[in-house]
Amino acid sequence: MKGSIGTTGLIMNEPLLWEKGREGRCGFSLPRRDVESVPLDRELIREKLEFPDLSEIDIVRHFTRLSQWNFSVDTGMYPLGSCTMKYSPKTNERQAGREGFVIAHPLLPSGLSQGALRIMFELQQYLAEITGMDAVTLQPAAGAQGELTGMLIIHAFHKMKGSQRSKIIVPDTAHGTNPASASLCGYRSVPVKSNEQGILSAESIAEIMDEDTAGIMITNPNTLGFFEENTGEIAEIVHADGGLVYCDGANMNAVMGIVDMGRIGIDLMHLNLHKTFSTPHGGGGPGSGPVAVTKELEPFLPVPRVVKERDKYSLIEDCPESIGRVAAFHGNFGVMIKAYSYIRSMGPENLKRASQFAVLNANYIKESLKGYLHLPYDRPCMHECIFSDKDQKPAKVTTLDMAKRLMDYGFHPPTVYFPLVVHGAIMIEPTETESKDEIDQFVRAFRAVVNEARQNPDSLYNAPNKCKVKRLDEVAAARRPCLTG
Ligand SMILES: *Cc1c(COP(=O)(O)O)cnc(C)c1O
Repeated sequence: MKGSIGTTGLIMNEPLLWEKGREGRCGFSLPRRDVESVPLDRELIREKLEFPDLSEIDIVRHFTRLSQWNFSVDTGMYPLGSCTMKYSPKTNERQAGREGFVIAHPLLPSGLSQGALRIMFELQQYLAEITGMDAVTLQPAAGAQGELTGMLIIHAFHKMKGSQRSKIIVPDTAHGTNPASASLCGYRSVPVKSNEQGILSAESIAEIMDEDTAGIMITNPNTLGFFEENTGEIAEIVHADGGLVYCDGANMNAVMGIVDMGRIGIDLMHLNLHKTFSTPHGGGGPGSGPVAVTKELEPFLPVPRVVKERDKYSLIEDCPESIGRVAAFHGNFGVMIKAYSYIRSMGPENLKRASQFAVLNANYIKESLKGYLHLPYDRPCMHECIFSDKDQKPAKVTTLDMAKRLMDYGFHPPTVYFPLVVHGAIMIEPTETESKDEIDQFVRAFRAVVNEARQNPDSLYNAPNKCKVKRLDEVAAARRPCLTG
């Protein structure tokens, strides 16, 4: 453990505020009163509300200690595959916090919201350019809601053509939300297996595509961290039978400025601003999952739409083919400002470089841990790489044991047991924002854990050993959560 950055010193236990309270303590001091005093109804406060009596320092320490039990991307590397937990520059947060944006109200008339509408309009244009699509809606509040919006657009498209279809093709390397979004829209998902290279083959799609299939949902790059190289050919097959090609673009962080989705046959797709475009991901929101479409599908986009006419921005609702609203107002505006600020401050060249570094970092980790962990698909990856615990089987050490042990070394574990196509998966996404130093430390820690698994597996079975809480009963935690502490 020498040289590891993990430590446990000075992390305090902390009881509930109710256990800390002592009668008569007080957390504030008011100026000497200049009116007559009226006795406080302490009965009411004590009996009905049961607030503990606490001093200011009790409260400050309580919440500061709780915050120290937490982990964030500001604390250290957060290599969760499929999540893009990258560092988001603070300046973008600051721009979103400007007073003019914070107090903007969606019911203000367009004449008084020109700045806000301009940001939304220009962001739509930037996202259209980045994806290679023609038009964008910013309304969906999450990736999954973007998928549902996409499915509704596909549904509206087939309705307009006069023949509704019942199925959607969803590969085994798609994100789990894809089949859920398809069924929410009334479609039956038809699963299709990826090939031995971890990607879709055109033949497998040709076999199942028919005129009752509304389209296909391709996660690209997919959840194995590979680029779906056959998308163009697959799109031709799907289009030939009148279907549409949806791309789950939540992993756009790997291909910004590199892949033109329109040119490889994508008809519509969503992005996750809360992964790729500078809103921290995780912590329960808010998020934003804009949907980008081709010219042909533009009439179906949700209303109201932000338009620009002679230097004036306005909202239009009169779009007869639109699927209607998918948000009460315009979506999560604060997230849009962060994306706008991020795109403007990076510029096209640096967005491209960010993706190149994200891919380089993932491949560097893949090569550095190869030989230590089993690599089910040994080929260049995109933004994330996937290992399994196959080589640790003889020592009876699992993915979970290694993930927990990494915490003792000061690293948040990667995503584990996902994607489901890899047994005992360990999915690492370093993102572009980690330096080589940080990644090297992570690799050293992971190698040390793998060596321990070989030489001294006992140290892993109950890991983490240095963390504030040790190995938890995860089933009980999910089934019988104790929400009071
Ligand atoms: C994160 C993710 C989603 C879902 O996005 P949410 O905002 O969590 O709904 C969908 N697809 C992929 C590939 C993702 O990584």
